[in-house]
Amino acid sequence: MKYIDAHSHWSDPRLFLKPDFDALLAKATSQSIDYFLLGGISPEEWRNQITLKEKYPQNFGLCFGLHPYYVSDHEYEDCEDALDDLAKLLPMAMAIGEAGLDFRPHIMKDSQSLQIEMFENQIELAKAFQKPMVLHIVQAHDKAIQIFDLWDAPDRKGFVHAFTGSYDTAKKYIDKGFHISIGGAVTFDKNHKLQDCVQKMPLEYLLLESDSPDQAPEGWQGDNDSSSLYQVAEKIALIRNVSPFDILGTAAANFKRLFRMS
Ligand SMILES: [Zn+2]
Repeated sequence: MKYIDAHSHWSDPRLFLKPDFDALLAKATSQSIDYFLLGGISPEEWRNQITLKEKYPQNFGLCFGLHPYYVSDHEYEDCEDALDDLAKLLPMAMAIGEAGLDFRPHIMKDSQSLQIEMFENQIELAKAFQKPMVLHIVQAHDKAIQIFDLWDAPDRKGFVHAFTGSYDTAKKYIDKGFHISIGGAVTFDKNHKLQDCVQKMPLEYLLLESDSPDQAPEGWQGDNDSSSLYQVAEKIALIRNVSPFDILGTAAANFKRLFRMS
């Protein structure tokens, strides 16, 4: 295991069903990006993760959770049933997530209170099963921090995926023990706030992710894939005035420490 993509959606049908899936995976592994923590969305998607894990046990880490998108698209009863499934499958996963809050109006619609309830339920599961959390928080950092103030972070903490916020916001998560995962957004010049965050944050809390097939870095053509991690690392390296390989190596070491892998 050399470099690690802390969050990618190889189990999303857009990648999972691709005829050239094996070639895409070989493209990443041939560039030493050879371990991928998946991003959990829904019960159907977790099944794809299990299929991938059976086929490529060395390359994929399982992460099951109810994404805010799933919650906002389903009724309370469906979410409760999915939580029951989640509790059954969680022992085999490395992490619980994506769990969190997405308060963009087109996602949230009328699901705010259901999102909060399902997020709190997943925090409880993280504690009960001693799993780190993968957090999806968009336009809802104040609420998420407030929830962790009230409920405490799970013992195993976790990370905020695809973080795009300010240093001050990152600091609040770091103070609670969470890592901060940075993806393609940092490569866009307009994202000054995020670049400032990357400049100031302690590197021992940094993870790197592609969030593929979404969140491609600047200038990327077509669906994003894990090899774009190099472009993310290069941008962070430029900001921190170190080598991209230092950034990739530090992020991999941080990931292994967080997930207790040797
Ligand atoms: Zn994701």
